[in-house]
Amino acid sequence: MKYIVVTGGVMSGLGKGITTASIGRLLKNRGYSVSAIKIDPYINVDAGTMSPYQHGEVFVLGDGGEVDLDLGNYERFLDVELTREHNITTGKVYQSVIAKERRGDYLGKTVQIIPHITDEIKSQIRQVAKRSGAEVCLIEIGGTVGDIESMPFLEAIRQMKMEERKEDMLLVHVTLVPTDAQGEQKTKPTQHSVKELRELGLHADLIVARCHQPLKEETKKKIALFCNVPQKAVISAVDVDDVYRVPSVLEQEGMFDCLRTLLGLKPRDVKDTSWDGVIAELDALKSNGRLKQPRIAIVGKYTHFVDTYISIREAIKHAAMACKCVPHLSWIEAESLENGDVDVLRGYDGILVPGGFGSRGTEGKIRAIQYAREHDIPYLGLCLGMQLAVVEFARNVVGWKDAASSEWGESAHPVIDLLPEQKNAEGLGGTMRLGNYEIEIAEGTLAHRIYGTKKIVERHRHRYEVNPKYIPILREKGIVFSGWHHNRMELMELPQNRFFIASQFHPEFRSRPGKPAPMFRAFLEAML
Ligand code: GLN
Repeated sequence: MKYIVVTGGVMSGLGKGITTASIGRLLKNRGYSVSAIKIDPYINVDAGTMSPYQHGEVFVLGDGGEVDLDLGNYERFLDVELTREHNITTGKVYQSVIAKERRGDYLGKTVQIIPHITDEIKSQIRQVAKRSGAEVCLIEIGGTVGDIESMPFLEAIRQMKMEERKEDMLLVHVTLVPTDAQGEQKTKPTQHSVKELRELGLHADLIVARCHQPLKEETKKKIALFCNVPQKAVISAVDVDDVYRVPSVLEQEGMFDCLRTLLGLKPRDVKDTSWDGVIAELDALKSNGRLKQPRIAIVGKYTHFVDTYISIREAIKHAAMACKCVPHLSWIEAESLENGDVDVLRGYDGILVPGGFGSRGTEGKIRAIQYAREHDIPYLGLCLGMQLAVVEFARNVVGWKDAASSEWGESAHPVIDLLPEQKNAEGLGGTMRLGNYEIEIAEGTLAHRIYGTKKIVERHRHRYEVNPKYIPILREKGIVFSGWHHNRMELMELPQNRFFIASQFHPEFRSRPGKPAPMFRAFLEAML
């Protein structure tokens, strides 16, 4: 097993996740099998309970793991299916060490950060890497070098570097090279953060410098000298218009050659050229100014924060690349529609209501859905976006003015409710239904036309369901439930509209560049 560890210095938000994913993609393009682990030094056991305001989207894996959004980047760049073990947190590590201590596994020893916590970290990394079956495993350490929280992880990496063969483990450090008012590229922040690594006993083998303009030769020379790496191991990661171009940027900077030398990789005959297709699709969108530009209104709750809906943005992008159009996304705060004029939605070619929790903003979303239904604007609802479409229909078509979801309290018509099996489950208000489930699709429906098959698998993250009690009457009044898993409704559509479909699952989590999620693709096609 070969390991590539990616750390970050200077500040957060430098694109460490994209750099990690891109390094993986470079190796995959050359025919190596790659996996990736994200280490998050926070104490939460997983990202499931974390606010989207602080950490951005909670990404959901096939096995139901609720993980950091970087795993979404790895899955999209590497086109792999990861599992929850690929996100290691301080919480997980301590949970396991404390469980062992309670079982008496440590035979009376004093349990300490070194060696017990660090041993646990190394063992989790090695196990996950081994189980993935990949040849190269990337390990991204969240946070910035110097944070108290990441110390045990960096110490574990230091130990691993001693234990592994030299050519089996290398460290990539991502830093920032700002430009001052005189246009000079400043290397001091990089020097300092590499020094900080050195104090922890770690040596950066490659330095990836985020910069607005490619690093000048003198800048590279200076970094090489002060940071103790060959000049060719200093890589400029210049800003690009799309994250999917980062692998090519790194490649042009000689990243792969460095990796090959340092890791002793033998050249492969088989190459994976699928990424060329992705880049060709991006280029085609750029070079053609005459493409259609559909306008999509996304009515959500965390709209001012870019990372909250990252998988939805990416899924729209993948679909747009396939449909050859340039969508314009408008993020509309649901609450602004509550008392305000819904007529702001006039002129949009499509309306999308994403997933969400709690009652805040739901009335605004319901008004947006009503607008889409009544004005026959293509509508795509995701999870909460399906539940609210059912509520809207129950209120305004069936006539139950108080129809609601039990998530927001009592109502005489709880058309969205907890199923008994969910109600009786452990935890806050019933455990969440998470991850992959198989869905049966009814023939002759829009869903069947979209997927072209009778069985699909998609990822889930919800507690509430369409209340089985109301299904017959909702059907009678015109809702088509076109997909289900046993007694759980997974898809609803309104056949009298041109395109009105919503799913209880989250199709955005399985969308990949070059393999757009069928629901998103069909949504864009309907708009075009
Ligand atoms: N809050 C709803 C539920 O728990 C919808 C969840 C979601 O949109 N992800 O069922």
